[in-house]
Amino acid sequence: MTVAPDRVVTIRYTLRVEGEVVDQGELPYLHGHHNLLEALEEALEGHEPGDQVRVHLSPEEAYGVRDPEAVAVLELDRFPEEVEVVPGAQFYAEGSDGEARAFTVVSVEGNEVHVDFNHPLAGATLDFEVEVTGVRPATPEELAHGHVHG
Ligand code: ZN
Repeated sequence: MTVAPDRVVTIRYTLRVEGEVVDQGELPYLHGHHNLLEALEEALEGHEPGDQVRVHLSPEEAYGVRDPEAVAVLELDRFPEEVEVVPGAQFYAEGSDGEARAFTVVSVEGNEVHVDFNHPLAGATLDFEVEVTGVRPATPEELAHGHVHG
């Protein structure tokens, strides 16, 4: 059975950015429902279990280019006391629209916390090494929900 819309596809993957492994694992996803990056799903379409696929995604095809203006300075004493505010730590802030927006701490200087709202992989070119390890039809319930059930 090949990778096609409305099928549950299991992949084993390694993600590298500039030669360094930033993520790896094995996961099932529902193909054709925007569960993965669209360009990655497109590259997997038509493959079958056992196939190995190398996918090279530009920032535009992945998490977008970095917006140099999506940075801010927050006050350290407005963070909850129990959290550790250190470079690399990730938090959520509620935007003016009520939506939660993730940000990453870049540096802490006195009471100033410099943060970046860009996706951590914004601006990165992604190299995926993917092996398709399984394909099965999705259940009606999975199709209704738009995601895989355990
Ligand atoms: Zn569900």
